[in-house]
Amino acid sequence: EREQEDNKHSEMEQTFIMIKPDGVQRGLVGEIISRFEKKGFYLKGLKLINVERSFAEKHYADLSAKPFFNGLVEYIISGPVIAMVWQGKNVVITGRKIIGATNPAESAPGTIRGDFAIDIGRNVIHGSDSVESARKEIALWFPECPFNWQSCLHPWIYE
Ligand code: UDP
Ligand code: MG
Repeated sequence: EREQEDNKHSEMEQTFIMIKPDGVQRGLVGEIISRFEKKGFYLKGLKLINVERSFAEKHYADLSAKPFFNGLVEYIISGPVIAMVWQGKNVVITGRKIIGATNPAESAPGTIRGDFAIDIGRNVIHGSDSVESARKEIALWFPECPFNWQSCLHPWIYE
């Protein structure tokens, strides 16, 4: 029973995924959403927004000492982004795999960055790097929260 509880809990894992301004401008929104949907993850939140500089700085606060920080913030505020919450078993780590390595020069073909990006500073998409940062990012981007519905597909995706 304990194991069943753990399984249920891991199926509830959530990650924060953002399609960056280049992904929106280039018309990759449908393609990207489709990849997460087809995998079997549940879309639990979505909005198109322009973020303020201070908000982008907050989202990337951990990187504020990096030389690319200002350019990164400029990039994120350069146009609307799509902010999303995706849910499923191991969605944080699997989401990172679907996205691919940070530098598109090293992202495998078949990943989003491997298929659609060239430069590290135009790499199309963000995904949380841990359950803990997912929790923080979801709270920052979706303060209105909780997204509680269950897909009727659930028993067809989870055993
Ligand atoms: N970035 C950059 N130059 C670098 C490293 C990162 O412009 O040398 C940008 C890139 O867009 C990346 C973002 O900063 O996606 C955040 O960096 P992080 O190391 O968190 O990579 P990610 O988690 O997005 O793969
Ligand atoms: Mg990161």
